[in-house]
Amino acid sequence: MNNPCYFGEFGGQFVPEFLYPALKELEGIFEEVKKDTVFQREFHRLLDDYAGRPTPLYYAKRTSEFIGCKVYFKREDLLNGGSHKINNALGQILMAKLMGKKRIVTETAAGMHGVAATMAASVAGLTCDVFMGIKDIERQKLNAEKIKILGGNVIPVARGNGILKDAVSEAMVAWIRDLPNTHYLIGSAIGPYPFPAIVAYFQKIIGVEARVQILDKEGKLPKVVIACGSGGSNALGIFQAFLSETDVELTFVEGKEAAGFKNGSKGIFQGAKNYVLQDEFGMDKKTTSRAAGLNYPARGPQLSYLVESGRVKTFAASNNEVLNAFKMMGKLEGLLPALETCHAIVELFKRKGKYKPDDVVILNFSGRGDKDL
Ligand SMILES: *Cc1c(COP(=O)(O)O)cnc(C)c1O
Repeated sequence: MNNPCYFGEFGGQFVPEFLYPALKELEGIFEEVKKDTVFQREFHRLLDDYAGRPTPLYYAKRTSEFIGCKVYFKREDLLNGGSHKINNALGQILMAKLMGKKRIVTETAAGMHGVAATMAASVAGLTCDVFMGIKDIERQKLNAEKIKILGGNVIPVARGNGILKDAVSEAMVAWIRDLPNTHYLIGSAIGPYPFPAIVAYFQKIIGVEARVQILDKEGKLPKVVIACGSGGSNALGIFQAFLSETDVELTFVEGKEAAGFKNGSKGIFQGAKNYVLQDEFGMDKKTTSRAAGLNYPARGPQLSYLVESGRVKTFAASNNEVLNAFKMMGKLEGLLPALETCHAIVELFKRKGKYKPDDVVILNFSGRGDKDL
């Protein structure tokens, strides 16, 4: 199939008919901005001078000694806002401006995307309504407060389980109610086309930088790239630069208590065909990951495709393993990773002694963990 809506059999636009014009408008703008040099210059100016790119590729010396090979961290935690989310938020805000939108609606779980979207909205002078599950507001108080201070509105979502997927549904409804004025700034590589493609496009800067940096530091490509995720925005962000290098092993780590790959199956969820945790009736199942940002039942279409085709291998980390990795990273490296990022770290720790001393592993350090304290 050569339909851009699909990655293999995954993706598509499973939405009510009246949404097609809005998706078409987005598609049109997306094709334009890829070629628009003024847009690109402004996007990269904000990435560099506002967000803080390029992020360092850090040689983690003590972790390297512990694992027995060369371990590098791609430091997305150093970005303004504390995670990779700002890359996508800035790109989509500039698209929203081009479309003449005045208002952003979005969803957030750990609050990292809500913070990033609000920051970007304030940079561009747009208003921002952030839908957040009541359970997530409770456990990610710091980010909920930040969103308000940065000029956004936190809108509590009580329906369903009061978590990320419920917030996604509510944000979609808010978007549909006011299409002419509103852009839905989706936070991960999920939803109907072109959303997953747009998010992956704005996040690919992570891998573009990492590839140049590792060639500069080591003179060779990594043996393994490890990333955590749910929808897959930070993982695709770094993986894209290595997709065609079949010797580079791409490793994706999800939450064991929200294991859309390990325990899920193919199904339609929130506008696209994905891997999703579902029951026999096609209803999504309850997830209980402690990492709010990974507590989502579906995996995005491109990631689903890459896993199905065998290019990306998947693993799962449990809540307990994640908390142990969190504590260990503080002592080992003086770093405070997000609980989401700790999933990737768990998988790295499990590979202690498995590699040769000269092998290079890059771990995408997706965010910082102040929010989780
Ligand atoms: C949101 C988030 C994730 C998971 O989202 P993906 O779209 O799958 O990358 C991972 N790490 C951090 C720090 C996050 O904020």
